[in-house]
Amino acid sequence: MRSSPRSAVRDCYLGGGYVFAAKARDIAAEYGFEEVAQLASNENPFPPSEKALAMASEALLSVNRYPDSSHDALRAMLESVHGWSPTVTGSGMDGIIETVVRTLVSPGDLVAISSPTFSFYDLAVVAQGGAIRHVPRNPDYTLDTDAFIDAAKEAKLSFICSPNNPTGTVTEPADIAAILDEIEGILFLDNAYVEFSDAEYIPLLSEYENLIIGRTMSKVHGLAGLRIGYAFVPAWYAPCYHAAATPFALNMVSAAAAVGALSDPGYAGRFIAHVRRWRAIFEERIPYPVVPGGANFVLIDTNPVSSQDAVRSLARRGVLVRSCDSFPGLGETFIRVSIGTDRECERFLEAIRSL
Ligand SMILES: *Cc1c(COP(=O)(O)O)cnc(C)c1O
Repeated sequence: MRSSPRSAVRDCYLGGGYVFAAKARDIAAEYGFEEVAQLASNENPFPPSEKALAMASEALLSVNRYPDSSHDALRAMLESVHGWSPTVTGSGMDGIIETVVRTLVSPGDLVAISSPTFSFYDLAVVAQGGAIRHVPRNPDYTLDTDAFIDAAKEAKLSFICSPNNPTGTVTEPADIAAILDEIEGILFLDNAYVEFSDAEYIPLLSEYENLIIGRTMSKVHGLAGLRIGYAFVPAWYAPCYHAAATPFALNMVSAAAAVGALSDPGYAGRFIAHVRRWRAIFEERIPYPVVPGGANFVLIDTNPVSSQDAVRSLARRGVLVRSCDSFPGLGETFIRVSIGTDRECERFLEAIRSL
């Protein structure tokens, strides 16, 4: 008998994979809502900048051609805004993470990951056959610096997310420097939410040759659907990244939208102010413990209500949030709630009071 083609698929891809938040239209249909408060994926709830939209529309007219593979206009803009060169781009920060892992991890290589955190690091490392060591955080979710150094000293690559998804916890730049002083492997610092915090890590790049800082246009710039990621890398590393990257990973329309968004700092500034205002209101008015954080979401311990029950009960009231039981090491009673529009935030506060 012929063996099933299924047997050719690598074990790590039979089941498992990224855990997505529930879909708003499914919840709306199930409970009969016209509108659902979408607070499960840390998106920007407002439409993108007009400048981003205008540049994206203009770029659409040229999509019969391949994009400029080096995205010179976008990189020049990023480098002038942030004051660091070189920058690399990719299809979302997820695309960047995948490419970085491909350049550094061979089967059996050790990768250290501060956990609980964003799950895509694991998926990318497993795809390369790497071995993962999760380094648990302290009970208050701050980074256990000593334990992390011990693990990262033996690793080719290590990951820290700051502000961390899903805890929101910020690791101070001085602690990142203390880690970089001790390790020889590469540290990938995920800064998906850094714009909502007070932390500034870019100056570290000129002191360390083993630091990569990943960024995204999905959160603060409201362009999640266009999949735009970028990273600040050491000069020696940029050619390695380009050698491993998918050709034309970032498309022309997305790159143009990114240039437009970066030329409209007022848009990001307004959203950041909105997030900071609501983060303070959430910390004050949510009737459960809220983990202190620096992102556009908060982590809430709904104990004694389980996170699954909390998510279901909020969904019945038209509010979609993320259960954190899929994050290993976080337990069964945490939910992550993104900061939405004023109306969505009010709706959530009302709903959580009646859990
Ligand atoms: C959202 C997110 C990303 C990925 O962003 P994309 O650019 O949309 O791929 C990366 N890291 C963390 C921690 C995130 O929360």
